[in-house]
Amino acid sequence: RIYLDHNATTPLRPAARDAMVVALGGPANASSVHGEGRAARGLVESARRSLAAATGAKVKNIVFTSGATEANVTVLTPNISVSGQLRPATRLFVGATEHASVLSAGRFDPRRVTILPVTGDGVIDKSQAERLVRGEAEAGGVPLVSVMAANNETGVVQPLAGISRIVRDAGGYLHVDAVQALGRIPVSIGAWDCDIMSVSSHKIGGPQGVGAIVYGRDDLRAAPLITGGGQEGRHRAGTENVAAIAGFGAALEELAVAEEAARITALRDWLEAELRHIYGDTVVFGRDVPRLPNTISFAVAGMVAETALIACDLAGAAVSSGSACSSGKVSSSHVLEAMGVPVDLARGALRLSLGWTSTREDVERFAEIWRGLVNRMKPAKAGKAA
Ligand code: PLP
Repeated sequence: RIYLDHNATTPLRPAARDAMVVALGGPANASSVHGEGRAARGLVESARRSLAAATGAKVKNIVFTSGATEANVTVLTPNISVSGQLRPATRLFVGATEHASVLSAGRFDPRRVTILPVTGDGVIDKSQAERLVRGEAEAGGVPLVSVMAANNETGVVQPLAGISRIVRDAGGYLHVDAVQALGRIPVSIGAWDCDIMSVSSHKIGGPQGVGAIVYGRDDLRAAPLITGGGQEGRHRAGTENVAAIAGFGAALEELAVAEEAARITALRDWLEAELRHIYGDTVVFGRDVPRLPNTISFAVAGMVAETALIACDLAGAAVSSGSACSSGKVSSSHVLEAMGVPVDLARGALRLSLGWTSTREDVERFAEIWRGLVNRMKPAKAGKAA
């Protein structure tokens, strides 16, 4: 099998599996004061240190959650406090191409949500963002802006420095969904100058069902979504999922962002050139703007993505169409729609996403599968690029 769907989820890294097996070996409530509890606490705190190192955050500013969906929904709340004093966000601004867990706007009244448009390349339209966000500040409000570091469908990377400047000028808060960026491009909460970040373990070779809220400031916190016990510094109640957190920590320790990016970029660029060689009119989305090294979002006009996806699957390759984070969804992509991609082209959009298991053999075999498929589906037009 050829697995080219790392943006949906990544195969578990052996080091993560090993760490989980160790953690599962004993009774492990990280809040217990006995030796077993202290051992569990050690695993959780070690993972917290690894995540702090990977994001440039302070250890005390990390809150483990059940994943990035929970992290996003928790922090997208009007109920934000600074130095213990409530300083509520009055309006939420979200990018048009955000993940569904951000577009759902957390605990905001839908009437207090504004969508920030993107350009045809999928990049936030900065002048529009500036006008809208500044408007809220001028009306006496406090904007909360949520923009992803990199898009899960197209890999398009957002210009966070510029967005952060807009938010700072408006006296607002900035949240960054860094799920697809972590492990693939440098992630730094300080360099991005953002207040809050969300990350997920299963996009970096860790287990599913664990992620984190990462705060860029000591003094700022969102009201907890899950209340009860005092775990995670009273910011997320519930017994910590020690094995999953330990697996996340081990996956973080395996990251070698620069080396992996260079290796994956070479594979991706080779495959992308091959796709365009196989069928000259292949459209690659976001090709002219900064993108993740691992993602190809592309379409062939007249092709139906689901048909192509099933054909790839039968031939031994796992790829995805549209957003496909929640499987079984056969709807057109809101990301491509926001970019103004014509519906009939968007219907043929496939996503290939590489990762730590990807090899030269994988991409070569996929190119062969694709060549055969295009020859069958588009026999008249298949051929070399013009
Ligand atoms: N944000 C982005 C950009 C994603 O790609 C995903 C993937 O599913 C999520 C959030 C949700 O993460 P999780 O699966 O950990 O809830």
